[in-house]
Amino acid sequence: MILPPDIAADLPFLTDLRQDLHAYPELGFEEVRTSAIVARLLEEAGVTVTRGLGGTGVVGTLKIGDGARRIGLRADMDALAMPETADRPYRSTVPGTMHACGHDGHTVLLLGAARHLARSRAFSGTVHFIFQPAEEGRGGARRMVEDGLFDRFPCDAVYGLHNMPGLQTDEIAVVAGPQLASSDSWRVTFRGTGTHGAKPHLGRDPITAAASFLAALQTLVGRVIDPLQPAVVSACSVQAGDPRALNVIPDVVEIGGTARAYVPEVRDQLETGIRQLAEGTAVMFGIAADYAFERRIPPVVNDADAAARALAAARSVFGEKVRTAFPPSTAGDDFAFFAGRAPGCYVWLGNGPAVDGALHHNTAYDFNDDAIGPGVRFWVTLVEQELHG
Ligand SMILES: [Zn+2]
Ligand SMILES: [Zn+2]
Repeated sequence: MILPPDIAADLPFLTDLRQDLHAYPELGFEEVRTSAIVARLLEEAGVTVTRGLGGTGVVGTLKIGDGARRIGLRADMDALAMPETADRPYRSTVPGTMHACGHDGHTVLLLGAARHLARSRAFSGTVHFIFQPAEEGRGGARRMVEDGLFDRFPCDAVYGLHNMPGLQTDEIAVVAGPQLASSDSWRVTFRGTGTHGAKPHLGRDPITAAASFLAALQTLVGRVIDPLQPAVVSACSVQAGDPRALNVIPDVVEIGGTARAYVPEVRDQLETGIRQLAEGTAVMFGIAADYAFERRIPPVVNDADAAARALAAARSVFGEKVRTAFPPSTAGDDFAFFAGRAPGCYVWLGNGPAVDGALHHNTAYDFNDDAIGPGVRFWVTLVEQELHG
């Protein structure tokens, strides 16, 4: 891919910065160093900076000319609480913390775009560069919205980007419709009556009830949800009894898990279906069940108009290498909270082949620096085409 000369000239700086951020990863809401670097570089570029949205979040605003349209571009800055096992010159210096999702790359792509656009000024309108904290399950996007992100920085459209191994670095996927699933948590507590393991008839055994519940759980996806609608329900935690007391039936079994869907109806069906199964199981075994379903992150569903605009920019940059068909992910991204406040589009930028099979959240994962140029050019082109005056 041929890059505009000044983006090409910035690549060594951006690559060094990406590797520096990789070496100093920070967890959600703790991105003190990262957000300070972001704010300083935006200010040095002449971008107006607002700090402290959602704790460590930063918004850079660039208003050029008299164009009325306003768009937001999102990059997430946080790392994950996991060790880095790969040996590389810029490997994590923070034990138990690493950039295993490539957010170091996302941060640098958006900074590179801001630096270029502040120099070229080749658009008319307002662009908000949104650097969000805590995408990885800690609720950074929601916090920024609650801190008034869209009241203080109104957006007519908002865009997000994530790196994707398996696509080449000169490829991008821009697809209308569902991109990422809702990500909700559920908990079931079965309350029986503990007793001697030799005399189960004198108590009410919650463990057998829990086993029955877990065995039936997948019938929700198999028998309740429309077969043409994706859905996932997984039990991910079971706590009961004590392995040192194998003659004691406990009082309580606690089960927790996740539920995923792409449309509101299926999300509702999962919420009520798990409840029905838990409560019905409890009745069957003569015990009690408590149930809680926490709606954490809505699905990310690309808006048709925003997706068409992102696709036009992608075609200008990636030409024939644009993919308009790409399977959605059952992961979640709290970009959904931004896309709930303005028409949104989320795209997948190629990260090259999965090196040694390492995918997102693997201890050997790494953002591919070959994607910096194409990614910066995509953001820049989107702004220039969207805000053409
Ligand atoms: Zn991630
Ligand atoms: Zn991620």
